[in-house]
Amino acid sequence: MQLPADYHMHTPLCRHAAGEPLDYARRAVEIGLTEIGFSDHSPMERDDFDDWRMADRQLDEYVAKVRLAQAAFPQLTIRLALEVDYLPGQEDWIGRLAARHPWDYFIGSVHYVSDAWDIDNPAKLAEWKRLDAFAVWQAYFQRLTQAAGSGLFDIIGHADLPKKFGIRPVQDCRPLYQEFLAAAAGAGCAIELNTAGLRKDCREIYPGPELLRIARQQHVPITFGSDAHAPHEVGLNFAEAVALARDAGYTEARRFNRRQHEPVHF
Ligand SMILES: [Zn+2]
Ligand SMILES: [Zn+2]
Repeated sequence: MQLPADYHMHTPLCRHAAGEPLDYARRAVEIGLTEIGFSDHSPMERDDFDDWRMADRQLDEYVAKVRLAQAAFPQLTIRLALEVDYLPGQEDWIGRLAARHPWDYFIGSVHYVSDAWDIDNPAKLAEWKRLDAFAVWQAYFQRLTQAAGSGLFDIIGHADLPKKFGIRPVQDCRPLYQEFLAAAAGAGCAIELNTAGLRKDCREIYPGPELLRIARQQHVPITFGSDAHAPHEVGLNFAEAVALARDAGYTEARRFNRRQHEPVHF
C-alpha cells in the first residue's frame, strides 16, 4: 500500500524538535513515502510571544533548510509549509506571512484559547484543573471554527487537540464539531489526521472517529500528518490513520502545490 503524504513535520528552529529536514527526508525515503511537507511552527508577530517557535528573522533560514532537503532528495516530493497559530486579530499578520515565500500550504492550528494559555503545554497542565473541561472545549472550538472559516488556511491541524491529556468533557461535543466542520466545508478547508495523538495520554489519533464521521458527512477533505518532532516519527502509525480514514468512508486525501490542491487516492 502506498502511504499518503506526511504533511506535518517540524525542525529544530521551533526549539523543541530534533533533526534537520535532511534527516526527516532520509527517513521518509527509508519507509517508502513519496511525498512529505515541512510545517514548522510559524513566527508570531512578536518574537517574545512564547518560546516554542522560530523567530521572525529565522523564516528565511527555515526555507533554506527545506530547499536543501529538496535538492538532496530529488526522488521525494518535499513541500514547503507552515503550521500557523490562529489567534483572533492575527489575520493581517498571517496574510503578510503568506506573501513572504511560495508556500505549498498553511496548516492552521489553535493551541491558544487565550493569549496566555496554550492548552497542549504540559507546563500549564494546572490550568485544566481550574476550569471546566467543556468550557475549554467550547472556547477551543469557537476559535477553530473561526480559523476554518477565515480562508487563511488549507488544512486545520489536530482538530480535537483538547483531548491531548485525556481530559474530556462529559457533555455531548457533537454540536461543536458540526459547527466547526460546517465552517471548514464552507471555506473548502481540509482537516488532518494527525497520528501524534497516539503518542499522548489520549492515545487516539486527532481527530477521533466521531468527529471524522461528521467530517465525511460534510464532505470535508483530509490530509495526513505525523506531527514529527524527530526523524524517527516521520510517517509513524500511518497505516492506522489510513484505516481510520477508510472506516469513516474516505478514499482520497488532498495534496498541495503552491496552495492549489488535487485529490489523491489512498
Ligand atoms: Zn511542536
Ligand atoms: Zn500543533
